[in-house]
Amino acid sequence: MDRKFRNLIAYKVSKNIPQEFHIQAIMCQAIIERTNIFRSISDGDFKKEEFNIEDIYDKALEAVDNTHNLVIMFNDSPICAYYHICCGGSTENSEYLLNTKIDYLRGITCEECMKNKESENIVDVDLEELESIFKFKISQNLMNEYSINNMLKVLGKTNGNRVENILVFNEKVKGSVFSESLNLDSSRFGFRPIKIRFYTKGIGHGLGLCQYGANEKAKNNWNYEKILNHYYTNINLYKLDNFNLDLPLKNKKIFLDAGHGGEDCGYTNDLITEKEVSLKVTMKLKEKLEKSGASVYLSRSIDEYVCLDKRIKMIKKANPDFLLSIHLNKSKFEGVSGAEAIYYWGDTNGKLIGENILSNLKNNMNIKNRGAKEGRIYILKESGCNGVYCELGYISNPVESKLLEDDDVIDKMAENIVYSILEYYGNNILT
Ligand SMILES: [Zn+2]
Ligand SMILES: [Zn+2]
Repeated sequence: MDRKFRNLIAYKVSKNIPQEFHIQAIMCQAIIERTNIFRSISDGDFKKEEFNIEDIYDKALEAVDNTHNLVIMFNDSPICAYYHICCGGSTENSEYLLNTKIDYLRGITCEECMKNKESENIVDVDLEELESIFKFKISQNLMNEYSINNMLKVLGKTNGNRVENILVFNEKVKGSVFSESLNLDSSRFGFRPIKIRFYTKGIGHGLGLCQYGANEKAKNNWNYEKILNHYYTNINLYKLDNFNLDLPLKNKKIFLDAGHGGEDCGYTNDLITEKEVSLKVTMKLKEKLEKSGASVYLSRSIDEYVCLDKRIKMIKKANPDFLLSIHLNKSKFEGVSGAEAIYYWGDTNGKLIGENILSNLKNNMNIKNRGAKEGRIYILKESGCNGVYCELGYISNPVESKLLEDDDVIDKMAENIVYSILEYYGNNILT
């Protein structure tokens, strides 16, 4: 990822953390920026950004290079790496800001910030402004409103509605003395605040990493890994492989049809059923295809019976670019083995993807290639879209049956099928 995104990550680092900070804190920022870019790419909402290379400071590049393609993951997905300038003593739970619980955004204490006087601030706000923001009106009847708790409290009025006595910071003062001391024109007075002073501590929303705290910790010999694990709960650092970030299957709709289901088990033996294997392969395919940017549609995602006509309706409704129907085969001879792919007459897309699948299964998993064949498969014919009907192996062959029982084999099969589709669409992210 870095080769292509090195400058963009370094630019964001330069923009978002001061270069005076400790290199380990800047490295945290590099990993945060890389994670957020990676996440936006995975989600398909990455936007190219113009920037000036001269804005990048040297330590930012150093931090990008030294963090070796690392991103922050939680449960195998890149996290949404929130950070802020200074928490003021503790970070926040995600619920506080986002109204949703995010397991890796838990409030933690940040001792360094408790001591940090620099993050304390005073803001005076006009009462008028407060009134207009919150759309309320303090009574204009000043002569009768006479209490500001603990500061000024009118203790009594004369018959002429003058302040007789007033408590000023708990000191009883005669109204006349008070008004004279303040040069008021009369002791017939009322009062209201015109400004309210707010005291704040910390800068930013308080979610995720606190940059100030990270910097102080770095100065105390914490490395980036320890710092990130402090501010993000239960995360892993994961090293990205080199990977082409233009999602190759973006805008492609792929329909996955897991054969059989529910009362229709398909072929079975003592170890496996066709309905189970086809669903497992399908769900793996879905996961991997979506990672490549495809929109995936399913005829079923659980063990349920879906009749053929309903499947065809679903496919027509989704109007996919490609349909993949997953099945197993059976022979009365145990020795027969291998995978085959059937495409509808004249469907060259189906033919080419089918051939890719079979040759990749052969080359990478040594599954016998029984060839891609033309055929009148009902679901291909009726749905009217390009596609292939795959029979991934023989349930009647003891070796293949044993293999199909193994989840790692299923995963590898799915990987090869996705690879084959990517090959067809002219892009390959797996090399
Ligand atoms: Zn802090
Ligand atoms: Zn079948």
